[in-house]
Amino acid sequence: MSKYFVTASAVRSAISEFDKKGRERFLSDYGFGKARSYFLIYRRKKYDSKAILGVAIKYSSPNSRALGPYELSGGDAKAATTLRNLGFTVNKLSGGNEGGSKARNPAWSRDELILALDFYLKHRERTPDKRSKAIAELSREVNAVARLLGHAPSATLRNVNGVYMKLMNFRRLDPDVAERGRKGLTRGNKDEAVVWNKFAGDQQHLRQSADAIRARLAEGASDEAGGDEFDEPEVAEAEEGRLVTRLHRWRERSRKLVASKKAAFLKAHGRLYCEACGFDFEQRYGERGAGYIECHHTRPVHTLRAGEKTKLADLAMLCANCHRMVHARAPWLKVMELREILYTRHGR
Ligand SMILES: [Zn+2]
Ligand SMILES: [Zn+2]
Repeated sequence: MSKYFVTASAVRSAISEFDKKGRERFLSDYGFGKARSYFLIYRRKKYDSKAILGVAIKYSSPNSRALGPYELSGGDAKAATTLRNLGFTVNKLSGGNEGGSKARNPAWSRDELILALDFYLKHRERTPDKRSKAIAELSREVNAVARLLGHAPSATLRNVNGVYMKLMNFRRLDPDVAERGRKGLTRGNKDEAVVWNKFAGDQQHLRQSADAIRARLAEGASDEAGGDEFDEPEVAEAEEGRLVTRLHRWRERSRKLVASKKAAFLKAHGRLYCEACGFDFEQRYGERGAGYIECHHTRPVHTLRAGEKTKLADLAMLCANCHRMVHARAPWLKVMELREILYTRHGR
């Protein structure tokens, strides 16, 4: 099987078929076995990714049929990539590993590393003992983040050992420790160094980011701002992690908020236009574009707190292009910075 056509909405149709039938019947109807490691995560539920892809092909165009496990080329990893390219979250989970091989925990996310570094720097003089309450608390916290991000719970997921190891890795990166003639562990990954370099010199930013993540955790899994439906391929994850990224996107797409912001802007300016480039959808597209504009939340993400009310003054009106450019790479641009780019390049 080489090429096939599949759309995001077809994947959602396959997901709802899965929900209706239940896992067992869905898999047996199409001849799939249970996934071992790659799971599509949607609205906090787990789906066998390859089976979903095979069935999604059926929904993608009127003349297609579902493809079975042997017709889909490239194995589970390939199916995962296809689904990710459509904007879905696919996680490689250790919990589904039934083959007896050594289960590996998923790589640490930016969010988790921020919590660990914040902890490390708070205890920079002396890292608490592995059996201490403080380490147990950190492990609980990081584990909760990992699960909010869609990782299956397991006995080893962000347990005390894993968390302690991470702290030792930060110690290796700590120039203070090197000066005192001690050495941390020599293992570690690139992300730790990236997070260290970004945040260790700006502890206020780090502390605020960690607080924002903790506030999000305190909301629990029931809060609607946490869903992976807010992970979008065209939005680069903020430097402060995925949870605050989701919170940002959730806030600025709130229908009620967008409607009141538009109304207030219209009242103040007489028409809707992009605050970065001046684009006016109605002027450009006529009736079709009337009332169209996007909202961007201008507060830095590390100052966002779960559950707090968004003020209209924190929102800016942006056209679809400008909004994409703001979020296309981390760090995200301020509206003012985008305006400067446009001004420098085009004189307006
Ligand atoms: Zn614009
Ligand atoms: Zn935005």
